[in-house]
Amino acid sequence: MREWHQLSYPAVGSPALQTSRPSTDSAEDAALGLDVWRGLPRVQMPPWPDMAEVASVCQVLDNVPSVVAPYEVDHLRHRLAEVCEGRAFLLQGGDCAETFSDNTESHLLANARTLLQMAVVLTYGASMPVVKVARVAGQYTKPRSSPTDALGLPAYRGDLINSLDANEAARVADPQRMIRAYANSAAAMNMLRAYLAGGLADLHGLHDWNKDFVRASPAGERYEAIAREIDRALDFIRACGMTDNDELRKVSLYCSHEALALEYDRALTRVSDGRAYGLSGHFLWVGERTRQLDHAHIDFISRIANPIGVKLGPGTSPETAIELCEKLNPDNIPGRLTLISRMGNGKVRDTLPPIVEKVTAVGAKVVWQCDPMHGNTHESSNGYKTRHFDRVVDEVLGYFEVHRNLGTHPGGIHVELTGEDVTECLGGAQGIEDLDLPDRYETACDPRLNTQQSLELAFLVAEMLRG
Ligand code: PEP
Ligand code: MN
Repeated sequence: MREWHQLSYPAVGSPALQTSRPSTDSAEDAALGLDVWRGLPRVQMPPWPDMAEVASVCQVLDNVPSVVAPYEVDHLRHRLAEVCEGRAFLLQGGDCAETFSDNTESHLLANARTLLQMAVVLTYGASMPVVKVARVAGQYTKPRSSPTDALGLPAYRGDLINSLDANEAARVADPQRMIRAYANSAAAMNMLRAYLAGGLADLHGLHDWNKDFVRASPAGERYEAIAREIDRALDFIRACGMTDNDELRKVSLYCSHEALALEYDRALTRVSDGRAYGLSGHFLWVGERTRQLDHAHIDFISRIANPIGVKLGPGTSPETAIELCEKLNPDNIPGRLTLISRMGNGKVRDTLPPIVEKVTAVGAKVVWQCDPMHGNTHESSNGYKTRHFDRVVDEVLGYFEVHRNLGTHPGGIHVELTGEDVTECLGGAQGIEDLDLPDRYETACDPRLNTQQSLELAFLVAEMLRG
């Protein structure tokens, strides 16, 4: 076992001074190894029909203004260090797959508001800061288990690659879609930044929305106690004359996506202060299907300075988890690496403990995050890909039990949700059943918790956090 040594990253720089430059073809890029992935094995490769066109699209992306800035990426890494040390909680969520047609003001605001409402409840439950990360502004690619879909058509791989429309032509991978994905991502961040600065995150407003939820939910009674306590805490803040405090009105909402189409994330990588930043998003993760140690995806994210994540399914051995820590966080920097377990509710209590135990024993610093969605997918009796709310809750519960038993910090959750009244996941207080699924089944890929299910989950996790 190698010895961990602690190297600190430079302090968070002043945004005015910390600028970045496009990184193409320079000796510095070569030294940073930003293109080594191109020579490595790679699964889930977008079936680009024409690599010359990919190259010309990437040349455009090499020079566009980035979606996020290096200092923000550093800020998030510092905030995740707090999660790693047990002093903060991480809430990450949003669509399974964003689409160009749903990249609207109303959809973005609904998702952001739901995430922020959840964060209020979790902040109270955890009695610690909640770091908020949306699956937004770049979540346009999907890994697929099969190259074809149920109709025998080439699989839909996300709007960055091909179209969801059910015909052969639509499913041909089109490199030009990378430009649209970039433009939509930049527009989404632009709008979110504006609304966040303008009061979307106002604590009193968010709590009022939560009170509406508690009033309307059939399970509201269960959540009333916490809502009332938050009420009192806010009254206290008001009584202290702190209502105009900017802290109560503004938050940082970071953006994240799976780094799957490496051409895109590489083209939006910039060098700043001698380090490479993947500026297509603040937080990038590698999925369960693409985390082979000696393959392209792990190599690429190992070379950027962003906070990064890796999904771990039930087949992950503790040794693999340790190798991923060594490869992705050789300097053992807290906040750099998040291990996102997605075991399934029936397995989490057996598969997670040896991983947490061994990673902790070698001294690797990681954020432990629970994705209770991807291990709990099944097909409904009427043929819909769905998830049951009870299984989602049970996986989070199991994750808390594991960490409580081992004395480690249950650092956060990673969920697929939308701020709309869809019917994609079963159960919850609304009691959604198989036959209700067709009412509003709108996801382009995996089923998402709807607004009510998301808020219910937040209240239940708040109870778990309070022990
Ligand atoms: C996802 O997060 O949408 C996803 C595909 O996850 P996983 O890699 O864990 O299957
Ligand atoms: Mn998904």
